[in-house]
Amino acid sequence: MKNVVVIGGGIIGLSSAFYLQRSGHSVSVIDKGDFSDNCSYGNAGYICPSHFIPLATPGIVWKGLKWMLNSRSPFYVRPSLNRDLVDWGIKFIKSATNKKVEAAAIPLTEIAKLSQHEYKSWTSLPGFDFSYEQKGLFEIFQTHSFAAHAAETVTKAKELGLDVALLSYDELQRMEPQTKINALGAIFFKSDAHLYPNKLMKDLLTHLRTNGVQLISNAEVKAFEKGGKSVTKVITSKNAYDAEVVVIAAGAWSRDVAAMVNAKIPMMPGRGYSLTLENSVYQLNHPSILVEGRVAVTPMDKNKIRFGGTMEVVPVSAAPRYHRVEGILNSVKKFFPEFNVPMPSTDKLWFGYRPCSADGLPYIGRIKSYDNVIVASGHSMLGLSLGAGTGKLVSEMINETPASINISPFAVERFG
Ligand SMILES: Cc1cc2nc3c(=O)[nH]c(=O)nc-3n(C[C@H](O)[C@H](O)[C@H](O)COP(=O)(O)OP(=O)(O)OC[C@H]3O[C@@H](n4cnc5c(N)ncnc54)[C@H](O)[C@@H]3O)c2cc1C
Repeated sequence: MKNVVVIGGGIIGLSSAFYLQRSGHSVSVIDKGDFSDNCSYGNAGYICPSHFIPLATPGIVWKGLKWMLNSRSPFYVRPSLNRDLVDWGIKFIKSATNKKVEAAAIPLTEIAKLSQHEYKSWTSLPGFDFSYEQKGLFEIFQTHSFAAHAAETVTKAKELGLDVALLSYDELQRMEPQTKINALGAIFFKSDAHLYPNKLMKDLLTHLRTNGVQLISNAEVKAFEKGGKSVTKVITSKNAYDAEVVVIAAGAWSRDVAAMVNAKIPMMPGRGYSLTLENSVYQLNHPSILVEGRVAVTPMDKNKIRFGGTMEVVPVSAAPRYHRVEGILNSVKKFFPEFNVPMPSTDKLWFGYRPCSADGLPYIGRIKSYDNVIVASGHSMLGLSLGAGTGKLVSEMINETPASINISPFAVERFG
């Protein structure tokens, strides 16, 4: 059994710690924060095998260029000559081909199904009560151009073994009788699920603490001590920690941490915002994506509704642009005309940084330069959905047991 140090206390780091502890390893998780907030908290809560199309698609590149001119638009890349952004941007554009999007579908679906299976199994563990519900997910659309594309998506989803249907407006409205919807129709991904991420994270932390995992807070990883082909110590702003194996799961900061062990993983932070109505007077039975607005709406836990969206590719030091949330609320009003959600004060708004790989597939695997370092990061828009599955795959690598699925498409240094 090994002494494993996991860097990062988001859903990826905690899920990895969960499976490693269960396999009998001695596990520490180090975080530069205090484990109470990161991208894994305020997200939309989707566990979504339906998301088999990665972020980098031919359409997004051109839409992104157009949207950059609108400060309330859902997608924004701050133009800059920053080397990391330019490098990421070139790789992103090269990845946005139909061929690569097609090739990503099977690996994304496989890891999502694995992950969903694992989350389901967690619901029966003592101490876990994170409002997991499998009610499906709507992609609600308003335009004829998307309607044409929807039929194709349904066919592709069926080929991937997903339970999916195309709904007319009347069929959709019948499933949400308490809320008036403006739409042409929706894709209904019946096998998707959702959960309350804040509760999941809390339950995981409690479980790990109770089972002897060391949670080390306010310790930023600054460097590694190395001996030959191995990392021997993780050096933080607080202390140095011995390690037999290191897992880099530092979310949007993983590129910088991986660079400390000579591994290049193109990655940019993709900032998104959310706001949550507690005790909502509005009623929705299902989570939905408002397609043309690129907004996620999730009824979660008891009587809460969370609205989330925007993808701002900006450095983490850039000041938040809260007026983007007005764009989210405007889209909500276009689809749900009876929803009157005023712009709240900024202390009620949440934002987080998605770790965006250059092709939308995560980086999961060993690095080349050191024998005992694993990267698990870059999950972009899907870190929650793929979290439990990623944790399981990390533990399989360290246990040297066969992987549950083919992980070669997630090779860490695939961009060379
Ligand atoms: C608005 C919004 C909605 C979303 N909705 C969904 C959804 O519905 N479903 C889904 O699957 N995904 C969703 N996502 C994406 C998802 O939230 C992320 O992919 C996921 O949370 C990333 O998890 P992570 O563990 O990699 O990173 P994080 O949760 O960011 O955790 C990384 C941790 O590493 C720590 N760290 C960083 N650097 C260091 C260092 N040097 N030393 C020590 N610690 C360090 C950080 O402090 C942080 O706590 C959404 C994201 C946003 C913004």
